[in-house]
Parts: sequence; C-alpha cells; structure tokens
Amino acid sequence: MNRNEILSALKNKPEVSVLIVGGGINGIGTFRDLALNGVDVLLVEKGDFCSGASAASSHMAHGGIRYLENGEFRLVREAVRERNRLLQNAPHMVKPLPTAIPIFKWFSGLLNAPLKFFGMLDKPSERGSIIIKLGLMLYDAYTGRQGTVPKHQFFSRKKSLKKWGQLNPQIVNTAVYYEGAILQPERLALELLLDAEAENPNAHAFNYVSMIGGSDDTVILRDELTDETYDVHPRLVINAAGPWIDFTNRKLGLSTHFIGGTKGSHIVVRHPELRKAIGENEFFFENEDGRIVLILPLYDHVLIGTSDIPIEHPEEALCTDEEIDYFLKLTRRIFPSLSLSSEDIVFRFSGVRPLPRSTNKQVSHISRDHSIEVLSGDWTNLRFPIYSLVGGKWTSFRVFSEQVTDKALAFLGLARQKDTRSLPIGGGRGYPRDPGEVSRQIESLSAWTGVARERLKLLFERYGTRAETIATYMNGGTDFIVKGLPDFSLREIVFLVQHEKICHLDDLLLRRSMLAMLGRVTREMTEELGRVIGNTLGWNEEQKAAEVRRTLAILADRHGVRL
Ligand SMILES: Cc1cc2nc3c(=O)[nH]c(=O)nc-3n(C[C@H](O)[C@H](O)[C@H](O)COP(=O)(O)OP(=O)(O)OC[C@H]3O[C@@H](n4cnc5c(N)ncnc54)[C@H](O)[C@@H]3O)c2cc1C
Repeated sequence: MNRNEILSALKNKPEVSVLIVGGGINGIGTFRDLALNGVDVLLVEKGDFCSGASAASSHMAHGGIRYLENGEFRLVREAVRERNRLLQNAPHMVKPLPTAIPIFKWFSGLLNAPLKFFGMLDKPSERGSIIIKLGLMLYDAYTGRQGTVPKHQFFSRKKSLKKWGQLNPQIVNTAVYYEGAILQPERLALELLLDAEAENPNAHAFNYVSMIGGSDDTVILRDELTDETYDVHPRLVINAAGPWIDFTNRKLGLSTHFIGGTKGSHIVVRHPELRKAIGENEFFFENEDGRIVLILPLYDHVLIGTSDIPIEHPEEALCTDEEIDYFLKLTRRIFPSLSLSSEDIVFRFSGVRPLPRSTNKQVSHISRDHSIEVLSGDWTNLRFPIYSLVGGKWTSFRVFSEQVTDKALAFLGLARQKDTRSLPIGGGRGYPRDPGEVSRQIESLSAWTGVARERLKLLFERYGTRAETIATYMNGGTDFIVKGLPDFSLREIVFLVQHEKICHLDDLLLRRSMLAMLGRVTREMTEELGRVIGNTLGWNEEQKAAEVRRTLAILADRHGVRL
C-alpha cells in the first residue's frame, strides 16, 4: 500500500496501540524498538524525518567527556557504551574519529573541576593538561576492554607541531582520544525507520503528518500534503517532539514546562588547506569562557561548530553572523596561519537541543541526560497516558528508546521479545570489517549487476550493504548519469524517491544525500532533480516549479545558500 492508502485505512481502523509524535532520532528509535516487539505503532512527523534537532548535530557519536566535570559519570559511561554499539552496528556510517585537544596551559582547571563537581562554581574555565589527562583516563576506563576504539595518547609540543604543522605554536601539548563520527545522521535515522517497517506490517511512519489536537480518547492528525485530517484512538501517546515537546502537549490541552532548549549552530567550509591541516582528526577546543569549538572532517569539507544559547522558540533557531565570527575566531586561534573567512562557508545550519528546563546559570552545566515525563490520570482529561521524551543525545538514542519501549510494553501488558543492543542498522547489516572484503564484494557485485566498480564503491560509501539492492534496481532498466551530477544516476535517485519516503525536493537535497550540506547544489541541479522527482511522483509542471521555489527559499533562509 502507498502512503495515501495506509493513511486512508486509518479512517476505517483508527485504533492504534502506540502513537509516536515526532520523527527525530528519539521517536524513530522508539518506533523501531516497539515495531521489533510486535506492537502496532504509528509515528507522525510534521516535517521530514530527522529535520529537527536530529539534523543539527555535530555528527558525533560521543561519550561527552565534558560531562565528567558535572559529576555525570553514569551518563558518560552509558554514552561511551552506546558510541561503541553504534560503531559496531552501523559501521557503514559511524567511523572512529580521532579527536585532538590542543592544550594551552598545564595546570588550569585543577581547582575548578572539584568545585564544579560540588556545585560551588558556576564560572567556566579553560582546562589544562593535568585535568584533561585525568578525564581521559576515566574515559578510557569506560571504554573497557572491548577495544572498539584505541586508548588516548598525549603528544609533546614538539611532536604535536610535527604531526600538525599548522597548529598554534603556543600550545603546551595535545591529547588525542577517540570518538565516533556519524557521517550522515539523517540517513542513519531513516534506515532505522525502514528496518522497523520491514520487520512489522503494523508499524507505519509518516513524514509531513502533524498532530494538531485531541481530547478524551482521540488525537487529531493532519496530512500536511493534502490538508486531510484523521482521528486516531491510541492507547498510549509518546511525545517525541524534542524542542517542541511543550508545544505538542499544549495541543492536547496540557500545560507543561519540560524543555529549556539551547540553540546550536554549525558552518561547513570548503577550505582545502584547513581540511589538509586537520587530516582525519577532529579538533576539540574549549575556550576560557567555557565555549567550545569543534572542527571536524566532513568528507572533503570541514564542519565547524557549535554554540549553546538559550532560546524559547525552536523555529527561530538560525545561524547568525555573530556565531560565524566566533567560529572563525576560535578556528584561527587553533590554526593561526590559515586564512579562513566567511567566503569559505558553503552551508550553515542551526537547531535546538531539547534540554530539560533548568535554573542553572551556566548552560554548559545543564544535564544532557534523558528522562521520561509521564502525564496520566484525571487531570489530563485524556483517556490515554502521554510519555514525553526529554533531553538525550543522538549517541544514546538506542538506550533511551529501550527504556521508553520497556515502559510502553509494561503498560500494554506485553513482554519484550527482541532487543536492539547488537542489532545492525540498515546498510550496516553484513558490512565487511575488512576493507579488502569490501573490495571483493564490490568486485563480485560488479560482475553480477553490470554496474561499474567505481559507481559501486560510491554506493557502498553512501548506503553500506544496501548498495546491493540499489545496484540491482539500477540494473533493472535504462540508467544514465543525472545532468550536472556525475556521481548520481537517474535510477539511483528514482530508487530513493520510491523507497525512502521522499515527499519534497528538499528531502533529497538536505537529508537523503549530502548534496546541500557539501555545498554542491546549483539552481540547474535543483531544477533537474525537481524534474526527476516530479516525474517519479507524478507532479505537474506547476508543482515542479513550486518545489524548486520552496527548496531555493529553504536553502537561502535557513542555510545561507543563495542560488
Ligand atoms: C547543535 C546541536 C549539536 C548536537 N550535537 C550532538 C552530537 O554531536 N552528538 C550527539 O549525540 N548529540 C548531539 N546533539 C543532541 C541531539 O541531536 C538531540 O538530543 C537529538 O537529536 C534529539 O532528538 P529528538 O528526536 O528528541 O528531537 P528532534 O530531532 O527535534 O525530533 C522532534 C521532531 O518532532 C517533530 N514535531 C514537533 N511537533 C510535532 C507535531 N505536533 N506533530 C508531528 N511532529 C512534530 C519535529 O518536526 C521534529 O522533527 C546535538 C544537538 C544540537 C541542537
């Protein structure tokens, strides 16, 4: 059944065990776990999947070494474990990321850390070598004996400058430890969702469907593509609306103040010298004022972020010129000889962390932990309970989803049948650990499907072992390279449109591919892809033109890309 048919079926059977509102990583993670456990579950997302906070991340699977200082040992241990699981379960998309900390002082922060731990310090500080060493020893201990990533190392000033010739010579040394890079978070979330639907015929996820209201035993949904509304009768509602959680509860007549969001922005720069200077390393640097800058490789570009600024309304989160100045200034402090300017920026993005509301004066001290807030009983005037999923990190979505699912299963009176700890994700299934084996698979797939080896290599990089299905599809009809896009073919795009829930042109440019984020989009390409998607989805000429206009406006208004 297609999207409209499944939605229409809701008119005849509006009962559903669980309704999840929000298709960010936490909603999708919970959707997968419930689906695996045989629950009939419906997920609705008002925009595209993974277009809120989950699209604004620093692309890191990380334990959060900084949170050790806040005394959040359990959180860090849990996140390190989840980081390791992501490296194991999604090896096609999550890669080990050596992370270098340039250190400018020896002893700084020694007194601050214990004061902060006992809640007696609300002023940030720059950390020196000794405090960083202590933190990294603990971090290594949490990684355990699994050996998913190597242990940390310290490099003297001399060795550091030899390793990274452009680094600021004022450093006293560098520390290198390992995290994970999530290359394409939006695709990873989508693969989780597709896995869930493949597993359970009673699990359905819709993008561009909003939850707009509800009362008694009914929730009202609106299809944003057709304006059609649907009543559903859930036994349980999971509010996974991230920074919009309180707004979403309000639509059900509930006044909550769970979220105190903070805005974070990033820029993507095309700067070959900087890209060469960092190599395959992330640089992580904390300034005297407690603000951090991350500089990390993103394919042949460099991703720089991020800020942490309290904000009330998530829709207002935009990357400002002031934030850009700050990113450029801090990057220059680390690599002073490289001339980086705003001219090098090809893309910018911003989003809101759905942090728990807090009275903490220092935003970096607000916990990054997650919690489930339950609303039920008479005062809600609703016949179903609501679980609001507050906080969390991309990295620890699996364990958060597991906790929500356990609670939901208990409520529904069901027992857990499957768990997700070692479950591969999408194209990570059967993904060879050994690069030689990848080449062998490409070789045999090329012989079998007739798709050229170079194309298959790209498909493997993009889709992991799903490359096989896509190559088979490409081979099933006349295929050719898309005009202006030498590394994409027509049937590859058509496959994505047909199998990956693309509804708008920007879904493809911003979230199913890296085209926009890597600054590759041109007006001609937008028009060409508008034609390809439109022909696949049956848009008329007017709709195609409207989609091009919509995409150009989103790129200009939200991402500073003017075409
Ligand atoms: C700048 C920044 C950097 C970060 N970096 C990292 C990092 O490197 N590593 C890491 O682990 N974590 C990182 N995080 C944290 C992580 O990205 C978030 O914690 C996580 O993505 C939150 O996911 P979510 O599903 O709860 O929220 P979201 O992704 O925001 O999903 C909520 C969804 O609900 C939808 N919605 C809202 N209202 C409705 C409605 N009425 N009907 C239907 N749908 C609705 C929204 O459209 C949205 O898509 C970062 C966050 C930010 C903002």
